[in-house]
Amino acid sequence: MPFCRDGYLPRMTRGDRLDEYRRKRDLSQSGEPSGGRRKGGGDQFVVQRHDASSLHFDFRLQVGEVLVSWAVPKGPSVDPGEKRLAVRTEDHPVDYADFEGRIPSDQYGGGTVVVWDSGTYQNLTEKDGREVPVTDAVEDGHLVVRLDGEKLAGAFAMTRMRGRDQWLLVKKDDQGADRRRKPAKTQPESVLSGWTNEDLEDQ
Ligand code: MN
Repeated sequence: MPFCRDGYLPRMTRGDRLDEYRRKRDLSQSGEPSGGRRKGGGDQFVVQRHDASSLHFDFRLQVGEVLVSWAVPKGPSVDPGEKRLAVRTEDHPVDYADFEGRIPSDQYGGGTVVVWDSGTYQNLTEKDGREVPVTDAVEDGHLVVRLDGEKLAGAFAMTRMRGRDQWLLVKKDDQGADRRRKPAKTQPESVLSGWTNEDLEDQ
């Protein structure tokens, strides 16, 4: 995978964007989507709680035909005073947004996945008073999105730290902000099924 000088993934053509996703997995064994099916309905976001070798939350934004993805070890916070590390990971297919289940332990990312939150998002990124398209915002390393989910609402800023694939995810101070709520700790269940990761382990 080629990297640009300052570390971010270069813009790739449509067919290439899922190569890394497919290369890392044996999709005949893992039960995960192979991609290719397009889902309508505009720009969706999803946060999947993934209890793998270490617990993390996969934050994904639909950008065209893929889900641009970050792994957030502590999960998103709705407290504007808390910065959360978000590590950019490989793009995922759009149909991954509905994926819940158990990935066999001998497979890449082995563990359990639930859809912790989902909904739609709006790109609010601006530069010099003009809207920046989301693909450019991701490449530039500065992105502001407004989420309309069940657990997460309002604007979040994502900023890439210099020269790395490490970003910071921070809630903006708006009506969706709440310094007392700790959804990543107190609301572990799926918004699709109500299941927790532990429920999936028992199946
Ligand atoms: Mn993951």
